[in-house]
Amino acid sequence: MNASSFVIAPPPQAAIPVAGETQVFPVRRIWCVGRNYLEHIREMGNDERAPPFFFAKHADMIVGDGATIPYPPLTKDLHHEVELIVALKSGSLNIPAARALDHVYGYGVGIDLTRRDLQQASRKKERPWEIGKSFDNSAPCGALQPATRIGHPTKGKIWLSVNGIEKQNGDLTELIWNVPEIIAKLSEQVALAAGDIIMTGTPAGVGALVPGDKVECGVDGVGKLGIMIGQPAG
Ligand code: MN
Repeated sequence: MNASSFVIAPPPQAAIPVAGETQVFPVRRIWCVGRNYLEHIREMGNDERAPPFFFAKHADMIVGDGATIPYPPLTKDLHHEVELIVALKSGSLNIPAARALDHVYGYGVGIDLTRRDLQQASRKKERPWEIGKSFDNSAPCGALQPATRIGHPTKGKIWLSVNGIEKQNGDLTELIWNVPEIIAKLSEQVALAAGDIIMTGTPAGVGALVPGDKVECGVDGVGKLGIMIGQPAG
């Protein structure tokens, strides 16, 4: 298939830069873990014994390091959630946890931007989360680090600051479900494949962003990401 195979111009392939490389990582699907740090489950008033679950964003919702993101429509409560990103180079259905890391290309830092007011309203009405979680520019992602370079991080500070003031501060050791367990569980639900990325959940300290905010975040040993929140589009 080439461009002339399509009745309209095909959409661009979503991608994330790789630190120190000119080639980029092509993104197929974005999966997110709903609840994976105890203190965040408590701050949201959720059942800490319930297993985590998965929701999705679309690949073209990714924005890169340094982006200015227009304050999104419909919400009055845009929240930051810093997360470790896992990028897969392969996959299948029913991946055993013991083999899961064989499928990992690398790791990065992302923000699961959330229209919290709309997410909460959906929860109350037992509706899907799309309106709260899946919107334009809702998946800022920093450059990936290949596992061949940094290994498979299991500890390290995960943090986020707004205008230089630290808001989120956790450690990868606090993940309730670790990366192999997340991959194994998600692969029971869908066949994972090369290009899939997983946002692994956020530690406590989520909060609201407003136009003009400068957001910086990182995972020690993995990388950093910075974005600005701009005025609403249009
Ligand atoms: Mn999240």
